[in-house]
This record gives sequence, structure tokens and C-alpha cells, in this order.
Amino acid sequence: MLVAEDVAASDAAIQLPQLKAVHPAWQGGDSGEGEGSEEDAVCSVCFDGDAVAGNVILLCEGKGCSVAVHQMCYGVSTVPKGRWLCEACKAKLNPWGANCCVCPMVGSAVKKVASLGRLVPAGKPKAVHCHLACALWVPEIELANHEQMAGVRLDKLTAARTRLRCELCKQAGGGSVQCAMGTCCRSFHVLCGHVAGQTLTFRSTDGEPLAFCELHSRPAFEKLVEELVDGKRPLEFQGTPP
Ligand SMILES: [Zn+2]
Ligand SMILES: [Zn+2]
Ligand SMILES: [Zn+2]
Ligand SMILES: [Zn+2]
Ligand SMILES: [Zn+2]
Repeated sequence: MLVAEDVAASDAAIQLPQLKAVHPAWQGGDSGEGEGSEEDAVCSVCFDGDAVAGNVILLCEGKGCSVAVHQMCYGVSTVPKGRWLCEACKAKLNPWGANCCVCPMVGSAVKKVASLGRLVPAGKPKAVHCHLACALWVPEIELANHEQMAGVRLDKLTAARTRLRCELCKQAGGGSVQCAMGTCCRSFHVLCGHVAGQTLTFRSTDGEPLAFCELHSRPAFEKLVEELVDGKRPLEFQGTPP
């Protein structure tokens, strides 16, 4: 797991690297553009496809944008009557001027960063954005307003975190998470993991976000992962793989 931060360096600015953009399969394709894909829409924030009254999945109608979000995951209290646009499309930042500052994955549901703390973003962006999924799974990233899912705060992001290398896009930098299985320390960006089909979920007992690496997302570990998710087994469990 992450090593404790060097106290002496704790005031130093943290320069975020310019990550090479990764374009996921969901972007640019003809499939699912516009209407018609509501049934199999998966929320870009919690990665779940279940929808209930009062928390339906909204699809952004911005051109080429395929953001799908639960109302509650994006902070939309009432379903708009007409077109719904995500924040990036509303601000005319798409296509893809609103990239996440802590991962390379282009597109998906972002919000504006309210507070950078010691972080210095790459380039000179007018506004800095962050995926809400990154905000949920990366432990040090906070949201000032959970009701509106707004006000992303990066103040607590540590230099150690920003040095983690993503085993999927092979880039160091930004905010990778580590596998929740026992002592497995494999790290990856949240969205890189999602695109690769890895297990990203929440512990059912307390809502703690859990992410599993490629190995521990395989069917052989399904039962073990289930026990961790149900809180029947502590995360520190150091078992031998089946
Ligand atoms: Zn959701
Ligand atoms: Zn959009
Ligand atoms: Zn991100
Ligand atoms: Zn990555
Ligand atoms: Zn793992």
C-alpha cells in the first residue's frame, strides 16, 4: 500500500504530468449516439446500470458525448423536460476540452475542480476537471457537495499517489488506485480499470469504494471479492489464491 508521505516535502508543489490521452471504445462510435440505448446504459460514475424512480439514468445529448449518469451520481435532483447536457457539453468544452486532470481517459462524466491545493495541472487549462468516478474511488479526492456532486477538492492528493503507475495505460501520474485484495498493490486509473472490465464497486456495509486489479477481477476470485464486498472478510485478508 502507499507509503507515508515524506513530511518535509509536504509543502512542495506537486506537478501533474501531461498524460497521453486514451480514447476509450465508447467514444466516437455510432452505436448508442442519441436515443435508443437507455436500456443498457451504465452510469459513468458508479458503473452500475440499475435505475429506479427518482434516480434514473440520464443520457447526455451533446454531440458525440455518451455520458450516462444516475441523477444522484451527477447531482441532478429533477429530470429536465427537454434535452439534458452534461456539464462539459453545457460549457461547450466537448469534444474533449474537459479532460480529467488525474487520468488519461478522454470523455465520461466530469465536474469542475474547485480546489487544487498543492497540485499544478499540466498545461494551462482555463478550468480543471476531474471525473466523478476518479473523485469517488481515489481516497484523497473529496467532494464539497455530495448532493450536487460538485466541488471536487484535490487538496489532499499526495505526491506518493501521483507517482503511482497505471498498469493498464502504463503511465505514471495523476490519481491511480490500488487493488483492494489483500496485499495486492497493483495500481491503475479508475477509468482505465473500468474500460478494461475490472471490478469497481462499493462495500455493501459502509459504501467504501473498492477497486480490483485485472487478476483479482477474474472469475477465479469472484467468491473472495464477493466476501470482501459484503464485508464478511476484512480487506487485510491475506489469502492464497484458489
Ligand atoms: Zn451511478
Ligand atoms: Zn455531454
Ligand atoms: Zn479521471
Ligand atoms: Zn491508466
Ligand atoms: Zn489485485
